[in-house]
Amino acid sequence: MALPRTIVIAGAGIGGLTAALALAQRGFRIVVLEKAERLEEVGAGLQLSPNASRVLVELGLTERLKLRAVVPEAVSIMSARVGGELLRMPLGEAASARAGAPYWVVHRADLQSALADAVADHPDIDLKLGATFEDVAPHAKGLTVVHRSGTIRRSDLASALIGADGVWSTVRQQLFPEVQPRFSGLIAWRGTLDANQLPREYTARRVQLWMGPNAHLVAYPIAGGRQINVVAVLPGSWNRPGWSTSGDPAEVMEAFAPPRWPPTARMMLATVDSWRKWALFGVPDGCPWSKGPIALLGDAVHAMLPFAAQGAGMAIEDAAVLAQHLSLEAAEDAGSIAAALKQYGLMRQARVRKVQRTARQQGRIYHLAGPLAIARDLTIRALGPQRMLARQDWIYGWRP
Ligand SMILES: Cc1cc2nc3c(=O)[nH]c(=O)nc-3n(C[C@H](O)[C@H](O)[C@H](O)COP(=O)(O)OP(=O)(O)OC[C@H]3O[C@@H](n4cnc5c(N)ncnc54)[C@H](O)[C@@H]3O)c2cc1C
Repeated sequence: MALPRTIVIAGAGIGGLTAALALAQRGFRIVVLEKAERLEEVGAGLQLSPNASRVLVELGLTERLKLRAVVPEAVSIMSARVGGELLRMPLGEAASARAGAPYWVVHRADLQSALADAVADHPDIDLKLGATFEDVAPHAKGLTVVHRSGTIRRSDLASALIGADGVWSTVRQQLFPEVQPRFSGLIAWRGTLDANQLPREYTARRVQLWMGPNAHLVAYPIAGGRQINVVAVLPGSWNRPGWSTSGDPAEVMEAFAPPRWPPTARMMLATVDSWRKWALFGVPDGCPWSKGPIALLGDAVHAMLPFAAQGAGMAIEDAAVLAQHLSLEAAEDAGSIAAALKQYGLMRQARVRKVQRTARQQGRIYHLAGPLAIARDLTIRALGPQRMLARQDWIYGWRP
């Protein structure tokens, strides 16, 4: 018996919304369940390298993103030890020409609302806000997906369920309860500031990466260049879930204290007046990607440290590959849909693991101190901008 052409996606984050658009393009009817009542302006900046922007461009999002995304001209790699720039790696035109798609930095909320606007315009996608995924059960005609809005429980019939419900995924919890997110011992502190609060040299269209003993700092323009997104990463034991807990500025300033940190880095930190902190959790490598007609996507299956700037990028790539593997023909019976979802996981796992490993390794390199930091700085200078950019080819050059 033919299955319904409906796919339910749990989670309207970056991965879930991209998957909805990509699957609707393949002819599916999509129901997206999002537990939040509104897609609010939580979070801060995301970097979208060409591997991810290429997917968004192909989904027709360029116009919606153009006014909100910033194209940084370079990444300035800075060392606290030398008190300034080690190397400027070209992005902008250089990265686009090399990889064939733009490099964007964007506020997470701007990206989410661009995706949500495209979803709202699509006749085959139904985004249900305030709908929490609760349960799934097999059914003669596919799956019954149960969700709750307030006190009301409802269900949808679907041929497949995609768990794009983030690091604390309920779908993963149901499929693979043994897989639990692990705290990394690191906390990301983030703030935004108005670009006009800083001297001009700080507000150039560049990503600044400051590496230093036991901490690092990333800053870049967002909101069309009107704001600067600042993220400081430092060790800590506070490990509660969530994105919006306010933090004490004194704690950040202490981690970036002189003489180990130069005034230029500290000045930027001191200008942020409201800090939010989030504990960095990861899903252990090797989490299974699917079981029968249910698959995971994005942070739900591979939440990673943000030091390769690829968390959102990998979720977007997942969405494109998932849509490539699912066709209306594959959805005709449960066996083919399970096989297609298994194949999707097989296609993704090696690349995602390599990115997870790279992110962990980069975190260790950024936080080096003493002679190892000297060796790191010399190596980066010796490599030079072009070779540093070429080292990103395996990430940026990816195509679905
Ligand atoms: C509020 C928030 C703020 C963030 N801020 C940043 C940031 O500033 N910088 C950064 O680099 N990364 C941030 N991230 C993480 C980043 O967006 C993700 O790493 C990346 O985009 C991968 O996205 P994802 O779609 O897999 O998961 P997420 O972006 O985490 O999206 C998961 C979605 O699923 C929803 N959800 C969860 N459980 C259920 C359920 N049971 N039923 C229905 N819906 C459910 C959540 O509300 C969320 O909207 C943030 C994530 C969130 C949720």
